[in-house]
Amino acid sequence: MDPINILAEKFKEFPGIGERQAKRFVYFLLHKNPSFVKILGEAIISIKSQIAECESCHIFFQIKPHQDKLCETCANPQTDQSSLLIVEKDADMETIKRTKTYKGLYFVLGGLVPIVTKDTPTFVRTNELQAVVKDRIKNKVLKEIILGLSINPHGEHTDLYLRELLHPLIENTNVRIVSLGKGLSTGTELEYSDSETIKNALKNRG
Ligand SMILES: [Zn+2]
Repeated sequence: MDPINILAEKFKEFPGIGERQAKRFVYFLLHKNPSFVKILGEAIISIKSQIAECESCHIFFQIKPHQDKLCETCANPQTDQSSLLIVEKDADMETIKRTKTYKGLYFVLGGLVPIVTKDTPTFVRTNELQAVVKDRIKNKVLKEIILGLSINPHGEHTDLYLRELLHPLIENTNVRIVSLGKGLSTGTELEYSDSETIKNALKNRG
C-alpha cells in the first residue's frame, strides 16, 4: 500500500470518519507545508509519551517530573477528599473545573452505560470506580458521591445503574450518593453547560 492509502486507512479508524473524509484529510496534508505536517506528526507521537491516564480519576494529563501517576487535582493536598464527583468524560470534568466551585475529587467513567444491552462496555470504568470507592471508604474520608451525568435517557440510566452498583459498598457507612441532575433541566449536556448552570446544579444537588 502506498502512503496515501496507509494514512487514509488510519484516518478511517477515527470516530465518525468515513472513506471519503479520510482521503480528504490525506490530500489536505499533502497541500500543507512541511512544518505543519512535522508539528502534527510530533504532537501525535508525544500524546503517547507525554500524556498519562491518572491512576485515581482516569483523566488524561501531562506528565511532569516526579508526577507521572496522579493528575494535578488528585495529587494536590488541597483537594477535598470527602467528595467524589463522577462524570462521563474528560471534557465534563474540565467544564466543572472552570466554575471553580467544586473542590473535591473526580472520577471519569469513560462513557455511559447503554440502555439496551445487559453487558457494560469495557470502556465504562465500573470496576475501577468500585475499587476507588472501596479504597476511599476504607480511609474513612469519603462522605459524598456526586453523580454528574448529562440529563438525557442515557445519562439517567447510568445514574440509576451506578446507584445500584455502589449501593452495596456504601451500605452501613455515612457516605451518601447525590445527583447533580436535580439542579439541571432535561436535555442538559454537561460539557456544554455554562458556569452559572453548573454552580446552581452543585448548590442544588440532592
Ligand atoms: Zn486524577
